[in-house]
Amino acid sequence: MVIEISYVLLGVAPGILWLLYFFIANRNEEESFASVFRVFCWAATFTIPTAIAERILNATIQKESIQDSLITSFLLIAPIEEFFKLLAVWIGAYRRSDFRAPIDGITYAITAALGFVVVENALYILRLGPSIVWSRLLYATPGHLLFSALWGYSMGMARFVRVGEISVVIKGFLCSVGFHGLYNLLVAVSPGKAKITLTPLLLVLFVIVIFLVKKLRSVSPYPFLGDALLIICPECEAYAPEASGTCPRCGFALSKPDPDTARFCWKCRHKVSPDAMRCPRCYVSLKKSSLAQDEATALAGLHVKA
Ligand SMILES: [Zn+2]
Ligand SMILES: [Zn+2]
Repeated sequence: MVIEISYVLLGVAPGILWLLYFFIANRNEEESFASVFRVFCWAATFTIPTAIAERILNATIQKESIQDSLITSFLLIAPIEEFFKLLAVWIGAYRRSDFRAPIDGITYAITAALGFVVVENALYILRLGPSIVWSRLLYATPGHLLFSALWGYSMGMARFVRVGEISVVIKGFLCSVGFHGLYNLLVAVSPGKAKITLTPLLLVLFVIVIFLVKKLRSVSPYPFLGDALLIICPECEAYAPEASGTCPRCGFALSKPDPDTARFCWKCRHKVSPDAMRCPRCYVSLKKSSLAQDEATALAGLHVKA
């Protein structure tokens, strides 16, 4: 029993570590952690309707014939599971102000995938025994993350466009259903060789998702105000670079902000601590301009001395 519990803990560890990361990285921005936690809980809860739907439709991976496996893989299991994970993001974060930047689409999609997959991992380990834990951690867990990242990308894009929002999300959803279905089919066709056939599939997906993350990170829905941390102008409540001296919107003379003044990421407007090296939300570097400034000051000092 103790051994089983320790394997179940191993199976849920990726989800716990992800939440822990968010809790620590966003301790000065409670709302942000709350959104991630909400999506995680919704996705974990949605494993119940997913299991019920799959039971009613008799959607198990192994089938008598290839045709039956094709149908259950692509038309039942993949769309049902991706739908419920997407729904967790849709109701937990999509319409909220805390969806700040396109990259949040992938962050929330991965959160939903983890909430979903750790419950699945726990159930599989309890039902099939501890030996299943490694294939769950090495294949099913990254698989769920990568499938969801595809519609997460389209949600991140859709959140900031004015028209065609739903069709953008649907396109991403269909891509993830395609990959998820293929994954299931490979397991169904030859379970013994699944580890060999799934590895290249996951690697290809991984490369695609890295590319999508890079693309999303380059998109910002906010006007560019330079890469220094931002503060709120006390006069007009617009964002202003902390070192600018005057508000770019209303021209108000800004006094040098004290350490307690709220700072925001120049890229995604997430509240960050003044000494943060990287935004915990959009992962952009926050030190570039202040380092450059220090260098400039140092150089200016040298010139004066010379
Ligand atoms: Zn102002
Ligand atoms: Zn940011």
